[in-house]
Amino acid sequence: MMACGPIKGIKMDFDMLGLAPRLVAALAEQNITKPTPIQKQAIPHAMNGRDVMGLAQTGTGKTAAFGLPLLHALMKAGSKPAPRTVRGLVLAPTRELAKQITDNLRAFTKGSHLKVGLVVGGQSINSQINMLGRGADLLIATPGRLIDLLDRRSVSLGDTHFLVLDEADQMLDMGFIHALRRIAPLLSDDRQTMLFSATMPKQMAELAAAYLTNPVRVEAAPPGKVADKITQSVHFVPQAGKTELLIELLDSHRDELALVFARTKHGAEKLMKKIDTAGFATASIHGNKSQGQRDRAIRQFKEGTVRVLVATDVAARGIDIPDVKHVYNFDLPNVAENYIHRIGRTARAGAAGRAIAFCSADEAESLRAIEKVVSFKLPVAGGRPWQVEKPDAKTKNGGPSRRRRRPSGRGNKVRRAA
Ligand code: AMP
Repeated sequence: MMACGPIKGIKMDFDMLGLAPRLVAALAEQNITKPTPIQKQAIPHAMNGRDVMGLAQTGTGKTAAFGLPLLHALMKAGSKPAPRTVRGLVLAPTRELAKQITDNLRAFTKGSHLKVGLVVGGQSINSQINMLGRGADLLIATPGRLIDLLDRRSVSLGDTHFLVLDEADQMLDMGFIHALRRIAPLLSDDRQTMLFSATMPKQMAELAAAYLTNPVRVEAAPPGKVADKITQSVHFVPQAGKTELLIELLDSHRDELALVFARTKHGAEKLMKKIDTAGFATASIHGNKSQGQRDRAIRQFKEGTVRVLVATDVAARGIDIPDVKHVYNFDLPNVAENYIHRIGRTARAGAAGRAIAFCSADEAESLRAIEKVVSFKLPVAGGRPWQVEKPDAKTKNGGPSRRRRRPSGRGNKVRRAA
């Protein structure tokens, strides 16, 4: 695998990347003229037919980084998809992300003959079967629904020469590895594969080894690096005091969009109701909401009619909302890497943003894990740090304990630092 940086010292526009003029024109129509760092790195390799492994979060322009070379190749080939076949496949872990990718890529193909289809759960399977019956140049899919359609023989992947795995780390977290094991062998052996991920856990190397051939590795920012424009801080606050503190902070910026992360669906719903009662235009997105409700909440949040969106990790995955100024980690994530995903929802497209973590006594260890991932101690905005006392810090013979730390800190005695 080879790491490669952006081409230094050369001002580069999209028309210098050799993309089809129609694509360059569609980009210009959206005022997109200069490639982002991940696009500068990935597009030339992808256009040369190389497999690409990209480390990039939502907001870095990663959809165009894989989408433009893919659309370029499909336009250049000129052939039409046969009924019930697709020429390129993009797999995404969530419905929201799949829809967002589809919207993005459809905007790039405006005026071309390319057909970009979407298949996700929670929507009529019959209209998806009809769409696939006519064939699609590019299909964006969540794995579960795609398998359903493959089982019904509504689509075959034998003619599919391009595969993209987007937000691959989340696919692993959500257990889609089994689905991938079923889907990937159905594609043509002669295919180009691109994998994009916001983080690179160890298993990613295995995934890459299984599905990519001699990939070029590109990255928007080193793992764990958070956009410089995000001001991060932590409040040490007992669990019971979190809602009051949140409402107080929300009140100080009523006109700005705030995204609040809760750990559970139930917790998110309860919190949303409390914020609503406190007089804020609020909505929530989590796994217990219907697709229609989730879409509506995101739309209203984007429009600004809803100012506070309470979300769980899964529901908020990959969502691109340009104007989020504040991200609250009301509950700290169980998986430290998710902190990066969460706070990446703010400071989009060069704007500044704030990420505020609430840390209760039970979450002291989770905070420690987060600080390890971001490689610095979060500045304290309120409260005093919890001090973790480990009753088993010494072994019987007086030496340091080799016991592994509990991830949540539960079981350790915690008190306020003096
Ligand atoms: P993504 O990282 O793919 O979720 O992209 C985030 C947003 O950036 C999307 O709304 C894109 O339309 C936009 N975008 C993508 N590439 C560029 C670019 N080169 N210049 C400006 N905006 C871009």
